Amino acid sequence: MGNEIQRFIDDTTEQARPLEKAYTLAEWESAINGTPEALGRTQQAQAAYMRFWAEADRYEAARRYNQETVSDPILARQIKLIYLTAGQNQQDEATIDRLTALESEVRGLYTNFRGKVDGRELSDNAMDEVLAKSADPEEARRVWEASKQVGEQVAGQIRELARVRNEAARRQGFRDHFHRSLTLSEIDEAQLLAMFESLEAQSDGPFERLMETIRQQRSRHFGVDVADLRPWHFGDRFFQQVPPMGEVDYDSLFADKDPVVLATATYDGLGLDVRDVLARSDLYSRPGKNQHAFMTHIDREGDIRTLNNLERNQRWNETLHHELGHAVYEKHLDQGLPWLLRTPAHILSTEAIAILMGRLTLNEEWLKLVLGVPASQAAAVAAAAGERRRASGLIFTRWCLVMTNFERRMYGDPEADLDTIWWALVERYQKLRPPAGRRAPDWAAKYHVALAPVYYQNYELGHLVSAQLMNRITRETGGFVGREAAGRWLKERFFQPGARQDWSAHVASATGEPLDPRYFVEGLA
Ligand SMILES: [Zn+2]
Repeated sequence: MGNEIQRFIDDTTEQARPLEKAYTLAEWESAINGTPEALGRTQQAQAAYMRFWAEADRYEAARRYNQETVSDPILARQIKLIYLTAGQNQQDEATIDRLTALESEVRGLYTNFRGKVDGRELSDNAMDEVLAKSADPEEARRVWEASKQVGEQVAGQIRELARVRNEAARRQGFRDHFHRSLTLSEIDEAQLLAMFESLEAQSDGPFERLMETIRQQRSRHFGVDVADLRPWHFGDRFFQQVPPMGEVDYDSLFADKDPVVLATATYDGLGLDVRDVLARSDLYSRPGKNQHAFMTHIDREGDIRTLNNLERNQRWNETLHHELGHAVYEKHLDQGLPWLLRTPAHILSTEAIAILMGRLTLNEEWLKLVLGVPASQAAAVAAAAGERRRASGLIFTRWCLVMTNFERRMYGDPEADLDTIWWALVERYQKLRPPAGRRAPDWAAKYHVALAPVYYQNYELGHLVSAQLMNRITRETGGFVGREAAGRWLKERFFQPGARQDWSAHVASATGEPLDPRYFVEGLA
């Protein structure tokens, strides 16, 4: 039996490995240059990868082996991962063709989208800049509306993607794609929803108080009544991050600093070298380039790269730290692990590290030691940073509640009036007043709804894990920034084990206790 299982694992690995590499490489190429040819190659590579994992015999065998008692935990975990990956990809040839064609079309539309205002074309960064800085309510409204134009272009295809994903999920006995995605990524839907409801309840009071402050501030900034504030007055396209909040102009602290130098210093302080990753990365924006940011590990052998569109502000410094967080996790996976386990324990586990690192840009010690805020400003900046860190936890949590609940509703019924559902959720969780009479698929302007489906819960869970890790590491090593012991803790306890264990067992073995939202919630009060 052991031999048979080992042969099955070896055979799967041997075939999956080059397909995964071809796919990640093609994705990288089309992200740095979204030409029709590059997008076409990505579509082909994705289809080949999906076709392999769709093989019904492999899924059946993995399902059968997974039910047997395999005493070797390393073998058992590999079988489980084959079963889960194959399960997520069970669909027939026609479905694969349909999905990859739709995704490719939508990917091209997002990559090449530029918002149009009076005949001018604005990149995402340019629109963000106006929304973050403008004090002209009319300009903010027009740019915000322009940022939603992409929604009209992709809404039909996203609904169709939801239908096709749902059909495949139902053939496997799941209620819909939302249910299938969670289950096959080892997240229990009922537990998740209960945890999110509790987060809603626990964050509601602090968030309402924060909103009162923000509304006052935005009202003064724009010179409009609090009652007249609308979503374009809150500093970004979706109100997923903290708007400028007063005394300290955060971005000005970063204006004359090179983000690459700052990030290198942060990671050096932890004994984690990122120079090789930076050398392979694509860091600055260009026409035709993906406007988001991500990390990719091309081959599970150390070819790790990040894509960024760096600007000298807090947001892009946070983003670079975030993507390099993913990168150091990948870099320090135990190279002796079998290929299937040479990957983070879960997406939420790698998000936890990325979030932990990104949030250092609002950490008092970091501001002093790495950014070098002058002593005369130190106290004011530290106080503002603490406020901002707390605010970002609250704002991001409420935004995650919108995204996760919206996706649950969209997959529950793709034919529903999604435009109305979206604004009802925004009003409930983000406490924003919808624009009067607006009828538009604003939900479709969010990239993740189309191309990173049922992913957002991982960010929120990542926040929870990140808070628990920070608490544990600080207790064990006396701090974090500039401490090699903290970097060593992460390497040994969190990175090296790879995917040997499922995410919740991994969190428990690293920190000594199961995931407990209280560490995160305490930071919100
Ligand atoms: Zn991330």
